[in-house]
Amino acid sequence: MTNASTDNQKLYEGKAKIIYATDDPEVLITYFKDDATAFNAQKKGQITNKGVVNCKITTHLYGLLAQKGVQTHLLETISDREMRVKRVAIVPLEVVVRNIAAGSLCKQTGLPLGTLLEPSLVEFYYKNDDLGDPLLTRDRIFAMDLASAQQLDQLVAQAQQVNQVLSEFFISCGITLVDFKLEFGVDQAGQLLLADEISPDTCRLWDANEADEKKRVMDKDRFRQDLGDVAEGYQTVLSRILTQLAQPS
Ligand code: UDP
Repeated sequence: MTNASTDNQKLYEGKAKIIYATDDPEVLITYFKDDATAFNAQKKGQITNKGVVNCKITTHLYGLLAQKGVQTHLLETISDREMRVKRVAIVPLEVVVRNIAAGSLCKQTGLPLGTLLEPSLVEFYYKNDDLGDPLLTRDRIFAMDLASAQQLDQLVAQAQQVNQVLSEFFISCGITLVDFKLEFGVDQAGQLLLADEISPDTCRLWDANEADEKKRVMDKDRFRQDLGDVAEGYQTVLSRILTQLAQPS
């Protein structure tokens, strides 16, 4: 498949994606790369075909969310690795939802890995590599003028809705949605839209039928922790999503 992006001006290159301009100032193209980074880019590598798999997974999950009334920046997926998306001003917050304790939550609090979190946690981190994406509080967000109280309430409500839709869907795929990170943007009309991606790069996904702590991991922790078979983990997530979507509802 040809890539439309090659004819367009590159606006920004991130760790996992490249953003290109288009003839329409309100439309951008995101190109999904195979590059993988972890620990604030201290660990770098490539995951074979990751860009293709993550573009497909994001497309399907955004489609599912759109059906449930969650608006996203996706306009159209135009190739194996590319999406046309609405231009938005990205809110500089990473919104993390946690259903089960893992990762930085365990490190920072001592909660054992696998602790069920009821109700789920919704946390905000500052999108700033130089500062190492620190955990923020509501008051810090207001002091830094990053969002209003109303916007924060909206972000929490949308994150919880995404969690409800995706947790239910992933369970039907035999996958436990442990935690995930969302990004949001504001469009020209001032509307808050879900942006960036939802993929094994940005979610912790455990095989619900596998008890072994290492074998159950299907996401970027395979890369972070050198567990091996990273590309296979991502591919299995996509295969299960496609199988589930093909079921008559
Ligand atoms: N996450 C992400 N990008 C980041 C930080 C976290 O996509 O810059 C995702 C991560 O994959 C996990 C969730 O957010 O699904 C929670 O991550 P955590 O705070 O535990 O940090 P980590 O262990 O990834 O450093």
